[in-house]
Amino acid sequence: MAEKFDVAEERLFGNIYICRKCNARNKTKNPAKTNCRKCGYHGLRKKHKEIKE
Ligand SMILES: [Zn+2]
Repeated sequence: MAEKFDVAEERLFGNIYICRKCNARNKTKNPAKTNCRKCGYHGLRKKHKEIKE
């Protein structure tokens, strides 16, 4: 069951990044070149808590 969950998680959130400003979800494979679709802010974090800043 755990494996299945991980796969689903990756599929759901693998390309999802959260805007640091307005917390909008942005689906992209290249966050470095992507601005928030909502506010245009160039600061996206991965949905998973892998990156700490
Ligand atoms: Zn935003």
